Amino acid sequence: MTEKSLGEFIQTMPKAEVHVHFEGSTTPASMLELAKRHNKLDLLPAQDIPGLQQWFQFSDFNHFIDVYIVILELIRTPQDFALLAYRCGEDMAVQNIRYREVTVTPFGHTDMQAEKGLTIEAILVGLEDGRQRAKDEFGVEIRWVFDVPRNLSFPNDDGKYDPYPAERTLEQALLGRDYGVVGYGLGGYEPGAPAKPFSHGFAKAREAGFLCVPHAGETFGPQSVWEAIDDLYADRIGHGVRSIEDLALVEVLKERQIPLEINPTSNICLKVYPDFASHPFRQLDEMGVLVTVNSDDPPLFNTTLTQEYHVLAEEFGYSRADLARIARNAFVVSGVESEIKQKLLAEFDAWVAENI
Ligand SMILES: [Zn+2]
Repeated sequence: MTEKSLGEFIQTMPKAEVHVHFEGSTTPASMLELAKRHNKLDLLPAQDIPGLQQWFQFSDFNHFIDVYIVILELIRTPQDFALLAYRCGEDMAVQNIRYREVTVTPFGHTDMQAEKGLTIEAILVGLEDGRQRAKDEFGVEIRWVFDVPRNLSFPNDDGKYDPYPAERTLEQALLGRDYGVVGYGLGGYEPGAPAKPFSHGFAKAREAGFLCVPHAGETFGPQSVWEAIDDLYADRIGHGVRSIEDLALVEVLKERQIPLEINPTSNICLKVYPDFASHPFRQLDEMGVLVTVNSDDPPLFNTTLTQEYHVLAEEFGYSRADLARIARNAFVVSGVESEIKQKLLAEFDAWVAENI
């Protein structure tokens, strides 16, 4: 047998991903389609795919938020959710991603943009339709995380916390339990929006059996990760890379094997680190922290999960055996039902036995 090229190795390896955003996975092609569907082409700065691709080119955090808000504006009906969920599955088939845990922010649709008139029931119908079609056509498994937009819980500059977004999102997650919702998250910009006040929502989510998966340690330092662990019962940490700044914290992550959902290209684009050489992925891994690699908002950062594995090999110097070890972690830490997890792991292990 001739050895596979690195590209073939990464492409054919069965992959899982546990940190990727539904809205942030909207491609320029899907955006254009939705804008035409809703007669909202005026929201877009360009009316063709190359022009939109150029608009997607990341410049800074504010630009990122601008694009995100337009994406939210364009997702207006259950059919839109179905289309994007199906496209997510199609992309999984292209990249040989066997399992994806996708973060959706229902509050952004039902409350922040309430004028769209979307109910959570309508959103769930759309998501379920796309998810099932993706499973039937491509054999891929998708589960959802519903996350609270942390900044909307601090509506005024006075630092006063509004519990409504967390309560509302939990209610929505409970309604989605039979439709693939397995986790409860917290996203957004950390400075000025600490994790601790959200503990009421996370305590109930945990009781209800959801995985607790807050973002922490991305745009703020170790304190945010401590709060995610101590106050939000975090089963995994979204990002968590800045834990490296506190060795006692790294020790706790290692001892309790609390996984980090790391997104290297996103971290460079959002300037958490200036370049891959300064990124702590490898250090955290070598210190015994359970790491996974993910793509976050792939079209917005001009990346894919496949590309993130190339970053591990080419920027961080990982061997193929390491890539497989890290890839396996994502299946292990996922929130999918254990019977399916065992099946996915068996498939993964069989591939490794053939290819390493
Ligand atoms: Zn994220």
